[in-house]
Amino acid sequence: MGRPTLGNPQNTIEILQKYRFSFQKKFGQNFLIDTHVLDKIICAADIGKDDMVLEIGPGIGTMTQYLAAAAGKVIAVEIDKNLIPILEDTLAGYDNVRILNEDILKVDIRELVEKENGGNPIKVVANLPYYITTPIIMGLFEEHVPVVSITVMVQKEVADRMQTGPGSKDYGALSLAVQYYAEPYIVANVPPNCFMPRPKVGSAVIRLTRYEKPPVKVSDERLMFDIIRASFNQRRKTLANGLNNSDKLDFSKEAIMKAIECLGKGSGVRGEALALSDFARLTDFLILGNQSRTGN
Ligand code: SAM
Repeated sequence: MGRPTLGNPQNTIEILQKYRFSFQKKFGQNFLIDTHVLDKIICAADIGKDDMVLEIGPGIGTMTQYLAAAAGKVIAVEIDKNLIPILEDTLAGYDNVRILNEDILKVDIRELVEKENGGNPIKVVANLPYYITTPIIMGLFEEHVPVVSITVMVQKEVADRMQTGPGSKDYGALSLAVQYYAEPYIVANVPPNCFMPRPKVGSAVIRLTRYEKPPVKVSDERLMFDIIRASFNQRRKTLANGLNNSDKLDFSKEAIMKAIECLGKGSGVRGEALALSDFARLTDFLILGNQSRTGN
């Protein structure tokens, strides 16, 4: 089994020159060139020989080498066909890596986990392409892909949004969606000089540890997320107006006011003041109100 050779600027430049690789901005290509950051990611992901890891966007295979050395098996999904010959070269010393030349958003990851890991939970580790961070993470959760944890490099601002709670300006639908499925923990902040080329924004590594059961109970998960999105769509409006103005929700003004009253936070409360447990209660109050109106 090989030992990681990439992870510093010299070796990265050497590989890029050997293959005359040119970066594609549209794929969010910022390759890691800092071994300390790589060590931190591998350590936070807590990978052992029993683990199967899914890496999204391996690039030239820098982190893939570290993952392959630590894990039982690595599946690396890369969209850019120009990177495939490079990956075949840099990962030649590892017999536990499978490279797939696919768009991760088009891969049936549940089926992949079924086939490659007998349906057992996997660990996802990635330096994500920032332009599709949210669809990737929400896709993993909402499609109920069996995952133990997701340890990823994301834009610093996005990591803050995932981790924060009520009262912060960063708090919103993404915070609540992530926190319904997982416990977030920011592992490290990573400055632009740890990448080639340097991104314009700061980055952070965040670990999302999947809950076995969500931390709150709600009768209708989908409705709760429609309510959450409606509450934050018009941030400066009250919760009542946000819910009233949503074309996805079908509750009368009276039913909305009644449910908000039951919350006990005042009629002028804004969505940004509510915790996940409040949104779950609000959803159930609205459902109950509808049932008593229709006599069901
Ligand atoms: N893991 C490498 C590293 O840390 O050096 C590269 C990370 S770079 C931020 C993101 C990688 O994701 C690039 O290699 C890019 O080509 C790939 N990528 C972008 N969009 C993708 C998609 N839809 N599916 C799979 N890979 C994608």
